[in-house]
Amino acid sequence: MRRALGRWHRAHGRHDLPWRLTRDPYAVLVSEVMLQQTQVARVRPRYEAWLARWPDAASLTRAPRAAVIRAWSGLGYNRRAVNLWRAAAESLERFGAVPADERELRALPGVGPYTAAAVACFAGGRRTAALDTNVARVTARALLGEAVAPTLPNARLRAVATDWLPSRGARDHQLAVMDLGALVCRASAPACGECPLAGECAWLAAGRPAPPEPPAKAPAAPFPLTARFARGRIVAMLAEGAPLRTEEIVARLPARHRPHCERYLDALARDGLAAPREGRWELAGEGAAQGTSSMASPKL
Ligand code: SF4
Repeated sequence: MRRALGRWHRAHGRHDLPWRLTRDPYAVLVSEVMLQQTQVARVRPRYEAWLARWPDAASLTRAPRAAVIRAWSGLGYNRRAVNLWRAAAESLERFGAVPADERELRALPGVGPYTAAAVACFAGGRRTAALDTNVARVTARALLGEAVAPTLPNARLRAVATDWLPSRGARDHQLAVMDLGALVCRASAPACGECPLAGECAWLAAGRPAPPEPPAKAPAAPFPLTARFARGRIVAMLAEGAPLRTEEIVARLPARHRPHCERYLDALARDGLAAPREGRWELAGEGAAQGTSSMASPKL
């Protein structure tokens, strides 16, 4: 299965993704944090612009936090920008550089099990399973005969995905599994007729049994009605540059969010995204001098 997957990947893999052309742990960390909740097509130009502006952890660390938040604008989940900036500073402080060791990566702000494993594998070549949704789905179907990954205990899935990694070439194998999940073994309508694993796939051999019915969930609120939308709007207002009084922010929010503005601002302050100064709100770190911002930042 590994050999068939490798052959398919050499011919069809997404080899031109810019974060695949580097083994620099900092650059891979930037890409993985951006990709956490944002699609590849949107991340690609933003990743390239980010690396052109801040090519290493030291240059990012020297940037004022407000500049980093502003550069993240439009990617969503702005807290990721602050965490990335803090992670770069803590890496330099504790390890001298962004590490490729999974345990050291886990100690950094905003770096969870998936991101740590992905950086360790893609930058460091370590044999560790990075279980994103694509890897989880392919592993569950091909090796366990399960239609969807969430029905499986994560520890079992991780153990199986780890066993599947070759002792040499774990990086290439994991990228191949990811690409297969993205391009062929899609969540809906998997293209089994084009799949290099079709001859061995446990789920296909079992006749592609339907997954169990997921538990009924209340429909999610439309995005413009959520607190996340309102907080994003506030960050976008502050990113324009001029400090704003609370009343000015309230006036620019959609009516349904106005009564909650104070709560949103408190949450943004807690997340290190906004700060009050002289009766007005601004992006956290606004006006901080280059080179003075990160090492003095509070530890998460
Ligand atoms: S044969 Fe079908 S279900 Fe199995 S891994 Fe390939 S695409 Fe996925």
